[in-house]
Amino acid sequence: MGDKRFNIGLPEKLGGTLGNEFLLNEEFFEFTGDLLIEGCLLKAVVSVERKQSFWTIDIQVDGFIKTFCDRCGDSLKVCIQGKDLYFLKTKERNKNFENENIIFISSNKTDFNLRPILHEACLLLFPITRKHKPSDCNQLVINQLEKSSKDFSGQIISSEILKNLKKKLKK
Ligand SMILES: [Zn+2]
Repeated sequence: MGDKRFNIGLPEKLGGTLGNEFLLNEEFFEFTGDLLIEGCLLKAVVSVERKQSFWTIDIQVDGFIKTFCDRCGDSLKVCIQGKDLYFLKTKERNKNFENENIIFISSNKTDFNLRPILHEACLLLFPITRKHKPSDCNQLVINQLEKSSKDFSGQIISSEILKNLKKKLKK
């Protein structure tokens, strides 16, 4: 969490900016098995600018993730591109602001750790459904799935039961 690498200074002068670039791979996101991300490489370009009573943090993301197709299960590379804008404000002011991209910090802060918002901004760009174009899917698998879709769900359940059994045996 307290990874110093992601700290960025907060410019004091009005209009002052500070920028940095980060390369983020799958280790940064600590993917767990159920997300099925095989790997990723994202470049995040961050720019902090001092405004009158707050800072803006502009995040631009560009890269790809390697995952698996929801339809056929083959590997799939998805390009990720997008941007997000956050606002940093000191705690005392504008308490009733309603925007989830506003982050409050204590007034004596001179730097800010970007890790949490980099994490969030990138994950929001990941597609919820990940599929090949229909013509690019592995047709063999698709045909098999269609033929035995009922058996298939049965298999998933039984393999889960098996997994749990194994866990119990280990204990
Ligand atoms: Zn596919």
